[in-house]
Amino acid sequence: MTELLLRGAQCVVTMDDAGSEHATCDILIRDGVIAGIGRGLATRGDVVDVAGCVVTPGLINTHHHLYQSLTRAVPGGQDALLFGWLQTLYPIWARFGPEDMFVSTQTGLIEMALSGCTTTADHLYLFPNGARLDDTIAAAAEVGLRFHPTRGAMSIGVSDGGLPPDVLVEREAAILEDCIRVIDAFHDPRPGAMVRVGVAPCSPFSVSRDLMRDAALLARDKGVMLHTHLAENDEDVAYSLAKFGCRPGEYAQDLGWTGPDVWHAHCVKLDAAEIDLFARSGTGVAHCPCSNCRLGSGIAPVRAMLDAGVNVGLGVDGSASNDAANLIGEARQAMLLQRVSQGADAMSARAALRLATRGGARVLGRDDVGQIVPGMRADLAVWDVSGIEAAGSWDAAALVLAGPTRVRDLFVEGRAVVRDGQVVTVDTGAVIARQNMLAARLAERA
Ligand SMILES: [Zn+2]
Repeated sequence: MTELLLRGAQCVVTMDDAGSEHATCDILIRDGVIAGIGRGLATRGDVVDVAGCVVTPGLINTHHHLYQSLTRAVPGGQDALLFGWLQTLYPIWARFGPEDMFVSTQTGLIEMALSGCTTTADHLYLFPNGARLDDTIAAAAEVGLRFHPTRGAMSIGVSDGGLPPDVLVEREAAILEDCIRVIDAFHDPRPGAMVRVGVAPCSPFSVSRDLMRDAALLARDKGVMLHTHLAENDEDVAYSLAKFGCRPGEYAQDLGWTGPDVWHAHCVKLDAAEIDLFARSGTGVAHCPCSNCRLGSGIAPVRAMLDAGVNVGLGVDGSASNDAANLIGEARQAMLLQRVSQGADAMSARAALRLATRGGARVLGRDDVGQIVPGMRADLAVWDVSGIEAAGSWDAAALVLAGPTRVRDLFVEGRAVVRDGQVVTVDTGAVIARQNMLAARLAERA
């Protein structure tokens, strides 16, 4: 039995059902699980002094393309709309291999950890030059975050009227075979799982109708979740109307892509009927506010989704469309965007933090993380509010309204991933050096 005690937090924001918050509070962790919350708790294990800190549940990221951290701020893609942006980046991504996937994943995960994230989804949909989902899973195991990799895919290349170059698309039979392989090898359905695999064709415009349908059948057969991009912007909806004769929500429903085991990224352009469909079916949404701003996609109707009862989590999206991946920053951006379109009372700081914790847990089908309650896994973010960003703040809401934007400590399953602002599981300096070397090599060949 191992114990860890976080002693004397200025405030513990539990995100439990009642929204409880406790001043001057300890948290006892036993064997990776939260064992107690209260004052004056004792342990024979290690003690971490968290005076001057706010402790929240570890944040949960529901959409990312970790590999894209190798293509931040690419000149040709900086100011393009979605489809043009993709066409700029595809040829660069086509030069990736296993090492690029591994190192870019570690870079992205270090960044996520420092911004308070303990669980992240990833959507990898291209596998050039021998790259595999396995490369990202190996990278995540070293960093120590809870990982939900999804096996993405593209099957309609340029010569078939699709957007991606032919070299980046795969045969549909091979895609389904590899989905089965990675689920059998890595998916863990048990409580406290560190890896859960999902099935995730890239988007309705890069795979066939048949693959969408077969992927849904396969995922249900295996008991894993489904993920894709949906209704991201006006071009996306126009494509759906022109090509499939229906809106994205109807297309998803026809092919079995609604339900509590499905979550869609973006959903910026869902209309009222689609929001109702998502609420009734329990379909989740990964809201990616910074990416939506960066690509000019629009403001997702998150207030309307929440009012209707849709499960909404937050996503940073890939670094190519959100060059900085900071999950607490994403909560702030989600709050600000709803206020721009709906008024200052459209989303509180606490509601935004709830999206980043409970919302994300629900979207990813996890009932064992996202809140600080005895029996939950000990995934905790410790925010030092004694520094300049929070100086003068009156309330724990400052975490979203002001800062800090980096954790002091981060624990996953009770294990330290960040201590005193530094990742302790991998050598960050070495990862940065390798990442910059790989980026330079990709740029040289561009
Ligand atoms: Zn995305």
